[in-house]
Amino acid sequence: MEKVVIIGSGPAGWTAALYTARAQLAPLVLTGKQPGGLLTTTSIVENFPGFPEGVDGYELMMRMQKQAERFGAKTSFGVVEAVDFSQRPFALTVDGENVLTETVIIATGASHKHLGVPGEHELETKGVTYCATCDGALPAFRNQPLVVVGGGDSACEEAMYLTRFGSIVYLVHRRDRLRASKIMAERTLAHPKIKPVWDSAVTEILDVKQDNVTGVKLKNLKTGEEKILPVAGVFIAIGHMPNTDLFKDKITTDANGFIVPLKGTMTNVPGVFVAGDCADHVYRQAITAAGAGCAAAIDAERFLAAVRQ
Ligand code: NAP
Repeated sequence: MEKVVIIGSGPAGWTAALYTARAQLAPLVLTGKQPGGLLTTTSIVENFPGFPEGVDGYELMMRMQKQAERFGAKTSFGVVEAVDFSQRPFALTVDGENVLTETVIIATGASHKHLGVPGEHELETKGVTYCATCDGALPAFRNQPLVVVGGGDSACEEAMYLTRFGSIVYLVHRRDRLRASKIMAERTLAHPKIKPVWDSAVTEILDVKQDNVTGVKLKNLKTGEEKILPVAGVFIAIGHMPNTDLFKDKITTDANGFIVPLKGTMTNVPGVFVAGDCADHVYRQAITAAGAGCAAAIDAERFLAAVRQ
């Protein structure tokens, strides 16, 4: 029987692991399908305190893992298939195996949102991608016109990264100004290879018949004008949705699926705690997720101490 199982291995999960390990609770971290979480797909993280030169996202997560393991955190590359929170100890089904635990910290993070337009699904991995750092350097995108969809920090980061490879990077945004932080927006718009396309939506990704991306259909949302922009790659960066399907009808969420804690990091089920992007649609930073992971670990530790008295 485990004392603490942490589901997820992003900044929230590893920080919760570090703190519970140092509390000698020997936490079990179930990494999920993407060990290290979404941050491993980003390039340089410039806003995590303590790294004045910036730090590679993958490296940051590997360091967090090592730090937690140094104090006794156990890592399993497992995927949780089902949870039973109806009684304690809680039961988790992990790759077909049953795992019993006294407490759970949910740190499952979030996934990329999809546009939901024709061609998007069919052409995924054939020119449609959600990660410039993962796919930007592919030969198909070299010296080709590319498009990034979105207006937030992610879209700006993707566009900047793609300037290394593409001949031109169109940044298609549905409004006439970026949502991104001021520093990112200014840097992006000042780049000579980035061309913003304002007030526009991608209505279709072409060309399913050719089984390859050849362009996007754009609609100007103010004038209604439609045009085709020939591009070799479509990078979608329009935000995230919480990875909480597993907890549907078991843990209280809001209408968008974000977990709503009852008090501190405690969910509606005593002994189940939550941290990070799966419960945060406001801040969504690596450092806020790490902070929440720390809080969840302290809450779990206090919960265990209280039930043992
Ligand atoms: P975000 O801030 O939610 O931005 C999503 C963007 O996509 C918005 O511009 C939004 O348009 C647009 N959008 C949403 N749904 C759309 C749709 N269906 N069709 C077209 N456009 C759509 O998401 P994010 O950029 O992924 O950032 C998430 C969080 O991570 C933020 O807090 C951000 O600061 C942080 N982050 C930080 C860094 C960094 O500091 N280096 C890097 C990446 C992310 P509207 O503007 O009209 O809503």
